Parts: sequence; C-alpha cells; structure tokens
Amino acid sequence: MNDLAILGGAPAIAEPFRPYASMGEAEEQAVVRVVRSGCLSGFYGSWEEGFLGGPEVQAFEAEWSERFDTTHTISVNSATSGLMAAVGAAGIGPGDEVIVPATTMSATAAAALVYGGIPVFADIDAETFCIDIGSVRANLSSRTRAIIAVNLFGQAAPLAELRALCDEYGIVLIEDNAQAPLATEDGQFCGTIGHIGVFSLNYHKHIHTGEGGMCTTDDDHLADRLRMIRNHAEAVVEDAGTQDLTNMLGFNLRLTELSAAVGRAQLASIDDHIGRRETFATALSAGVANLEGLRPPKVRPDCRHVYYVWAMRSDEDALGIARDTLVTALQAEGVPCFPAYVAPLYLLPMFRQRIAVGGDGFPFTLSDRHYGPGLCPVAEQLHAHEIIGIEPCAWAFDDAAAESIASAIAKVHAGREALANWQAGTAGRVA
Ligand SMILES: *Cc1c(COP(=O)(O)O)cnc(C)c1O
Repeated sequence: MNDLAILGGAPAIAEPFRPYASMGEAEEQAVVRVVRSGCLSGFYGSWEEGFLGGPEVQAFEAEWSERFDTTHTISVNSATSGLMAAVGAAGIGPGDEVIVPATTMSATAAAALVYGGIPVFADIDAETFCIDIGSVRANLSSRTRAIIAVNLFGQAAPLAELRALCDEYGIVLIEDNAQAPLATEDGQFCGTIGHIGVFSLNYHKHIHTGEGGMCTTDDDHLADRLRMIRNHAEAVVEDAGTQDLTNMLGFNLRLTELSAAVGRAQLASIDDHIGRRETFATALSAGVANLEGLRPPKVRPDCRHVYYVWAMRSDEDALGIARDTLVTALQAEGVPCFPAYVAPLYLLPMFRQRIAVGGDGFPFTLSDRHYGPGLCPVAEQLHAHEIIGIEPCAWAFDDAAAESIASAIAKVHAGREALANWQAGTAGRVA
C-alpha cells in the first residue's frame, strides 16, 4: 500500500475531482426573468428613485438583511468595492492608520490606501489564522482610525473583543467577511458584529454572482454614506442635503439587475451550499485527527466555521520533511491541496518600495511605519512552513471525498520516511 505516487506508485485518488457547480435552474430562471424585463440595471446616479437601484437589487438587499439579521444591506459590484466604500464611509483620510492582518487577500489593505490611509499590519494567531488581538493592541496609535478584521478561511476573528476595543477608542471596526458568510461568533453572524461587514460574491466564494459584494451595517449614517459612495456621491450631495462632504467623492460600484437576480437564487439555497462545505471539512478534520505532526483546523468554541479554506498545519520537525515536499507528494496522490496561502501582504512590492498612489510615495510619506521581512513572524512561519490548504468551495466533493482524501493523507504520512529519503536525494541533486 505504501508505494507513494511520487515514487512511482499508483495514486490514492485516481479520478480528479470536478469543479463545484453552483448554478441551477433557479439561477437560470432568474437570468431569463431579468433579460425579458429589458432592464439590466435600474440605477440612476442622481437623487431620485433610481438612486437605490432597480427591483432585483432592492429585493436582494432586503432578503440579505433578513437572512443576516442586519438593518441595512448595500450591494456593490465586488467585495473590493465594498471594502473601499467602507473605508470611505468610515471617514478615513490621508495619514490615518488602518490596522489589518498580515495574512489576507490584498484588497483588505489596498482599500485603506485608496483614501490615503496607512495600512498597519498586525500579526495573526497561529491557531485560527485570524488577526491577533495582542498584536492589534501593540499597533494602536493616536492615528489609528479603523481596524479591518478578516474572518479568514471561514472563521470569525475575535470580533466581539475587537468591537469592544474599537468602541473604547472611538474607531471603526470593518469586517472583511468575504470568506465567511453564515459563520458565527457566539450566535451572531460574522459581518454583523463590526460597524460594517463586507461580503464577496465573486465566482470563487461560497455563493456567487460572477462578481459582486454586499455591505451590511446597523448604523443609518454609515449606510447613507455607503450608498452615496456607491453611486456618484459628489453629484448627489446637494439634492440629498448632505452636509458633511468628507469622502463624498463617489464611484460607480453598482450591482446589475442580472447579478442581483442570480444572487437572490443563490441566497435562497445558501444553507445547502455552505452545509456541503462544512460537512466535508468536518469529516476531513476527523479523518486526519490522529496523524502526528499534522494539525487539522481548530474551530473556536461557540463559533461556526464555514471553511472557505480547510487549512491544516504541518510540523516539519515532527514529520522530518518540508511542508512543500509533503504537498508535492499529496498532489501526486490526487489531493487537490496547495502550500500556504498568500504571503504576508507587507512583502508586496507596493509596501516594500512604498509606491502606491502617484510615483512619489504617497501616502507612505505621511507615515514612519516600515514594511519588510520580520514584521509579523507568526504569519511568515505559517506561510513558509506550515499551512496546507484545500478549497472546499472549488470542488464538487461528494460524501466519499473526505474519506478518500483523508486516506491519501494517511498514506503519505505513513510513507514519510521514504519521502524524507526522496527529499534528501532531490536536494542533493539540486545542490
Ligand atoms: C475574495 C476576497 C476579497 C475580494 O473579493 P472580490 O469580491 O473579488 O472583490 C477580499 N477579501 C478577502 C478576504 C477575500 O477572500
């Protein structure tokens, strides 16, 4: 049984998994309904009825508010747009600091820069991969104006604690909840614990509309500002009677009627789409629970994890092999896994060279924060040596998938001595 595929044996999983297919008849009918209506967008960029979009957009927002138990939902054309609008609505301006986790998708930090804000990177927690609250505290300064917490891989950051901290300092908590729809912390939905929550509806997420996003808030004032930034604020403020012009420079971040109609169908079946990922991930975690040197994802007590990424950690010393060798061997067995997630964001050229808006270093010239290797050691260690991820949203994993993947992992684990020898040989050849 222990002829590892990487050493010439038969792969444990012979048939490749198919991509997850989430579009069904309801989505098809939704598209037809909108096309037949002839109106593919109901938005007007002026202070009139069309300012809030057409019937599908408004119905989708109302249904989202109902499902996620929030007062306002403002749809946008991506989570990137939503994050940008949230930073604008929060009143961030040049030189204001926005604390973000080191490990996240780049848009989390880029959103701050659009308004001249300075991203300040907090390290992540080694168990949950989410922003570490101790590191957040250590990075607070008199210039901190907001925190963007990311509910990474589908699990809540320490949201209630962060919200309390923000309320104490009078700053805004934005949740980047792109990866965690229906995840909860103490019974409350992620995306509704901060002042503003931002969801993604891009093709790779749990439910999608191709491209799209949702902002949620219980705050009437922030909701108004989000709607203005979404839809040409500068042309609307006068008629709307808006007094405070801070960041009332608008964009076109509007969702189409087509996307909204598809989104309504996706939302109606969201429990199924998320339940499948959760069932798979829970079974896979149980399947690898007893393999020394591998740690399945840890779920915080009283939290629901929805597994945008199922991420285990490898202990290279205990296993005697490098994480990347393990991943190569797993891939050879047919396990659709990848090493690491994105590198800590402060390693991007934009931060290391301090060039973002214009070519002269704005807004970094307003700050003496530096970026470079060593800034967040936990994020760097996890990225370089520990995380092995599988994307339940990408694949059509059936009931047998968790078991076959777990046994492929167990096979490689059992063959780790042979793998270590192979690794030593490869290294020798390379050197
Ligand atoms: C996907 C993602 C985004 C961006 O979402 P888009 O809708 O593609 O703009 C932002 N943050 C995180 C954490 C994401 O996973």
